[in-house]
Amino acid sequence: MDINRIRQDFPILSHTVYGKPLVYFDNGATAQKPRCVVEKIVEMYESFNANVHRGVHFLSQAATDKHETSRITVQKFLNAKSPSEIIFTRGTTEAINLVASSFCRAFCKPDDEILITAMEHHANIVPWQLQGDITGVKLQVAPINADGELMLEEFEKKISERTKLISITHISNVLGTVNPIEKIIEIAHKHNIPVLIDAAQSVQHATVDVQKLNCDFLVFSSHKIYGPTGVGVLYGKEKWLNAMPPYQGGGEMIASVSFEKTTFNELPFKFEAGTPDFVGTTALATALNYVSEIGIDKIAQYEHELLEYATERLLAIPKLRIYGNAKQKCSLISFLVDGIHPYDMGMLLDKMGIAVRTGHHCAEPLMRELGIDSTVRASFAFYNTKEEIDVLVSGIERIRKMFE
Ligand code: PLP
Repeated sequence: MDINRIRQDFPILSHTVYGKPLVYFDNGATAQKPRCVVEKIVEMYESFNANVHRGVHFLSQAATDKHETSRITVQKFLNAKSPSEIIFTRGTTEAINLVASSFCRAFCKPDDEILITAMEHHANIVPWQLQGDITGVKLQVAPINADGELMLEEFEKKISERTKLISITHISNVLGTVNPIEKIIEIAHKHNIPVLIDAAQSVQHATVDVQKLNCDFLVFSSHKIYGPTGVGVLYGKEKWLNAMPPYQGGGEMIASVSFEKTTFNELPFKFEAGTPDFVGTTALATALNYVSEIGIDKIAQYEHELLEYATERLLAIPKLRIYGNAKQKCSLISFLVDGIHPYDMGMLLDKMGIAVRTGHHCAEPLMRELGIDSTVRASFAFYNTKEEIDVLVSGIERIRKMFE
């Protein structure tokens, strides 16, 4: 990969912050956008702006065509069987809320269980708790070991006849752990339990093939895979989506409405009430085409090199401890340096032009498990370089000396 050429596709990467070249290591929170994505958004508003699905006029049909073609792009990207299995949402969070609400209403009774892991993002915890208040479902939590890996045997022991769904992150946004989802799906299906994969941190780093995985649901956010904010995807097998009630009511999700009774539209529209973000979905398709052209496998390989380089260099810093040492790990590193509060570390790195994330990373239960409140997280994308990692390392060294 020609990283210098790739970096030119991302206008923001040539910016300076406080007079220093920007080093952007907050990709786990949101990724930067290539020019083609930004230009697609402008083109959509300048040339194709009209409400989709409902108009007979030229512009409405053109916008509808763009929006529905984007659905097919997502279908192909995930290798889903049909575009009807692709539901556009506002993001991973809304996609999990959709499944939690509709699935629990359709299939759960009081004391049924949803099995998650100790490393989940709040987006894969709280929606189930909200459903607990309504339908009485309860959370079961599978533990992790000291390296931040899921304990598979313990995980299987948590499965019972009350387990109705397993909802698990593919890659931890705090530890970088890549979960063995193939194995988990196999175990779950042996017990006839469907599986939801939270792919918010994985589709941008690894090839994800929903038919090969045989997962029942999979969710991701556009903004983490170089697309615009405010758009996300729920993939669901048709047999589940057809059996689940609508999530929200409104325009487009109906077949017919009277004051007495409403019947619902077919998939995928049954789950897409109201005007969709057709500009966002079209720009998401542009982002997916962009990464596909580079090749997710090539991206994964290069990011792994960055991870190995950064791990080695960070571990050489005295008093620095990395949280998350799974054998299968993605390109992010959470760390703490003894005697330096992560917030101070983040603020001082920022003054050097280095953007990292500090805090609990929306995973408070995991933090409690680790016995800490927060970490500093550097998360790498394929436009990052080893030279930028060197800048981070010398920044941390400088801050460490300041605190000595
Ligand atoms: N799940 C994981 C693993 C995440 O890392 C995130 C965001 O950081 C989310 C879910 C929520 O994504 P969003 O805020 O885009 O809905």
